[in-house]
Amino acid sequence: MLDEKKIQLGNEPSAIRSLFAYGLERKAEIGEENVFDYSIGNPSVPAPQEVKDCIVRLLDEDPVALHSYSPSSGLGSTRKAVADHIKRHYGIDAKPDQVYMTHGAAAGLAITIEAITVPGDEIIVPTPFFPEYRTWIEQSQCALVEVPCLQPSFQLDTEAIAAAITPRTAAIIVNTPNNPVGSVYTRENLEALADVLRAKEAELGTTIYLIADEPYRMISYGADIPFLPCLYDRTIVCYSFSKSLSLPGERIGYIYVSDLMDNVGDTMFAIQGAGRALGYICASVLFQRVLEECIELPSDVESYRENRRILTEGLSKIGYEYVEPDGAFYLWVKCLEDDAQAFSDRAKEHELLLVPSDSFGCGGYVRLSYCIAKKTIEDSMPAFQALYDSYRK
Ligand code: PLP
Repeated sequence: MLDEKKIQLGNEPSAIRSLFAYGLERKAEIGEENVFDYSIGNPSVPAPQEVKDCIVRLLDEDPVALHSYSPSSGLGSTRKAVADHIKRHYGIDAKPDQVYMTHGAAAGLAITIEAITVPGDEIIVPTPFFPEYRTWIEQSQCALVEVPCLQPSFQLDTEAIAAAITPRTAAIIVNTPNNPVGSVYTRENLEALADVLRAKEAELGTTIYLIADEPYRMISYGADIPFLPCLYDRTIVCYSFSKSLSLPGERIGYIYVSDLMDNVGDTMFAIQGAGRALGYICASVLFQRVLEECIELPSDVESYRENRRILTEGLSKIGYEYVEPDGAFYLWVKCLEDDAQAFSDRAKEHELLLVPSDSFGCGGYVRLSYCIAKKTIEDSMPAFQALYDSYRK
């Protein structure tokens, strides 16, 4: 029997995807240069040349061996490269056995949520949040518990998080640098969170995981981005190369179960079991091999930095308010009316495609993805001015 919930899920594209699809249609109608599409977070810088060179070189190897299955958790050599990377950068004696190669952070998160919960558990999600969390949490028959971030800083509200923790709380998902806000949680803020989680584990006698959703770890403009396993032992990192190396279509990332947690062995077995149960085994072997060689490549953040400068300077000159973006490639802009959907609709009349914040569980803002051509940002300024003026009449 078909599951009504799945039909609904498949039939209801996300607000981001709908706006993106509308943008494609609109560009076909009035010309690409006349639509200012800030809807989707697709990296606009190419993958590094070293990635291409590596792929080309690997294609000369024996194709049977190259395209074979790897072990379910990934090639030993790739998992070692990831563990060595963690050790080199963050000083934790990471073991390859605690690494599970995944089809991006999406699979990493779905596996992790499935691994560490039983039906009826709760997962705390600071809002605003990446909307797919709800899909994965509900698929595991758990409840998503929203805890609004502090405004206007959009830092974690650790007191509210403490109050939301119950004996059913299995985890909290922390995403820094953040989508949709572009903010980075401060070290002090994250240390306060770690204190809360430790205190609640002791008080309730339960285990509470910190799930670090990290696709944007390398996209930072100089802010201090703490590695969460260094702050809280029971951390599981879901990393992705989609944004850091501009490889979103290749679906490659990893889960790292911190070696520092007391129940690391069983947690890793549960990750492997959930990966198996969900069919997320043996991530692309070609890209596992590529990463062995390319894991140390830096992210090319310079064009995002320049886009960020043009966009923030332009918008503040007009009079818009936004949260200062320290990482990722999103800008969180305050709407000029309370209703974010109505503001996004009005922006559309000016050919500006801005995602309303309601889709991220929070009112009053729009998200702008500025991983787009610099010229599009420059050319969009008159439209932002006209939108602003339309509220001043
Ligand atoms: N988490 C966040 C916060 C994201 O923004 C995204 C993608 O945009 C993902 C997870 C999923 O990324 P991936 O392409 O690695 O599956």
